[in-house]
Amino acid sequence: MSVRRPLHRGRVVVLAGGVGAARLLRGLAPRMAPGRLTVIVNTADDDVFHGLNVSPDVDTILYTLSGLSDPLRGWGIDGDTFAALGALGRYGEDTWFQLGDRDLATHLFRTRHLREGRTLGEVTAMQARALGVRVRVLPMSDQPVRTVVETSGGRRSFQEYLVRDRAREAVRSISYAGIRAARPSAGVVAAIAEADAIVFAPSNPFVSIGPILAVPGIRQALRRAQAPVVAISPLIGGRPVKGPADRMMRAHGLPPSPLALAEIYADLLSGLVVDTSDRAFAARLEARGVAVAHLDILMRSPMRAAAVGDAALRLAASLQRRRGRLAG
Ligand code: GDP
Ligand code: CA
Repeated sequence: MSVRRPLHRGRVVVLAGGVGAARLLRGLAPRMAPGRLTVIVNTADDDVFHGLNVSPDVDTILYTLSGLSDPLRGWGIDGDTFAALGALGRYGEDTWFQLGDRDLATHLFRTRHLREGRTLGEVTAMQARALGVRVRVLPMSDQPVRTVVETSGGRRSFQEYLVRDRAREAVRSISYAGIRAARPSAGVVAAIAEADAIVFAPSNPFVSIGPILAVPGIRQALRRAQAPVVAISPLIGGRPVKGPADRMMRAHGLPPSPLALAEIYADLLSGLVVDTSDRAFAARLEARGVAVAHLDILMRSPMRAAAVGDAALRLAASLQRRRGRLAG
């Protein structure tokens, strides 16, 4: 039985990577008033496979919000098969990047429309509409940006590092190729300016949220925004729920903890949602000017994700009221 709780009526912008963000959105999206949620998605994971433009984080968000996603894996389409990939393998092609048969339709569609001159933002909107996604999903940029990981073994594209080499190599540094020429895609800056709350999903700060913040113009828009920025921690007890965020923090000289998030997001961050097991960090975070909310942030179910989203929006609302009192 589900209890109908009030919808959030304000305008909310979520900065998103893939799986961590999708888990949050699965709970948050149904609780938002229609037309009020905009998601700005990392595109620095994008790459070309078999001549096709693949945008893994955009796809994860679209598949999740349309109910198509594989709930266990977190990426790809539920029940998808991999016959085409197997056939490509017989031609001797690399098949370490998994692309399902139905998933391929998404990349065929995207590639064709990009080739015909549409922007990634336009193509993403067409796909969202076709899949019945009512949330506004905006790629961070229409220009190509690529995360490059320098590892102990050499220079890797992000997907080579994460998927092919399973994040086994030590990370030396991370950069975003193409970032200087990138611009925020249509609607991104306005959505940030008009938001009542801005939420950083519990996504990897270096390879999911980091590239979004590095697009020239986005950080400035966040600094100028009326709305407070609240982040949800991807770490629980110093460890990510999945992925290499903790190792990337160590590579940057930061012990993995909520304090590292405050360090990374620095001047942008007004609030942080942490796990109850991390509540001992609250005093030190608040001393740095970061308000803290804590609860169980492992999003095992849409209900848990809704609770995490609610906590982030409540924290943002309390920060807004505090600002209002200070201004008045
Ligand atoms: P990717 O692009 O698919 O790697 O996805 P993201 O960057 O959005 O997500 C990876 C991050 O999500 C990791 O750092 C995880 O710790 C975090 N994450 C995944 N599931 C959960 C969860 O249930 N709760 C929280 N708090 N973080 C999660
Ligand atoms: Ca990603």
